[in-house]
Amino acid sequence: KSFAELGVNEVLCETCERLGWKKPSKIQAATLPAALSGKDIIGLAETGSGKTGAFAIPMLQELMEAPQKIFGLVLTPTRELAYQIADQFRALGSSMGLIVAVIVGGVDKVQQSLALSRRPHIIVATPGRLVDHLEETKGFNLRSLKYLVMDEADRMLNLDFEVELDKILKVIPRDRRTFLFSATMTKKVSKLERASLKDPERIEV
Ligand code: AMP
Repeated sequence: KSFAELGVNEVLCETCERLGWKKPSKIQAATLPAALSGKDIIGLAETGSGKTGAFAIPMLQELMEAPQKIFGLVLTPTRELAYQIADQFRALGSSMGLIVAVIVGGVDKVQQSLALSRRPHIIVATPGRLVDHLEETKGFNLRSLKYLVMDEADRMLNLDFEVELDKILKVIPRDRRTFLFSATMTKKVSKLERASLKDPERIEV
């Protein structure tokens, strides 16, 4: 099936074509219909599968319908992954004036606070540094959040980000959509699933 046949809107279909994404990858084909119909998702998928598109496209499609700042948060284990994910959001959102902020460790906090004060649509973050900003950056909160993505959840949990994930889950709205992606299904991942997802669709490719 094409992106259009899976329910992706015309603007995003054109963007995918421009990026050279001729047809949906397996994980995208499996995820998009459920994600676009409003369901939470738990997906077992590796990096390189196109999973970023699988969560970014439904988020951007909803954001286009109802533009809003501090709309989506993507949590990921490493800086490198955060920058890669942000690049894909910027590419997919290039026609809609999308503002994306990357909040990771090892980078000047003052610059990051400024980026947050501009109220981005999408925040891509590693959990530790995001918690620092929730505690330290005046005026910054996640009370308007509509989407949470936890990417490479098994790696985040292996890196001992459990406490930070709990703190973040406590300060975001219960009424939101959640996508959880992991390469492996572990006990900790299923515990996180139970704590954060509502009646999710399970996707495995
Ligand atoms: P990811 O697994 O999300 O890190 O994506 C891996 C790479 O695949 C990225 O460089 C994407 O730009 C690219 N990609 C994602 N979806 C598609 C697609 N449907 N067709 C071709 N390339 C894609």
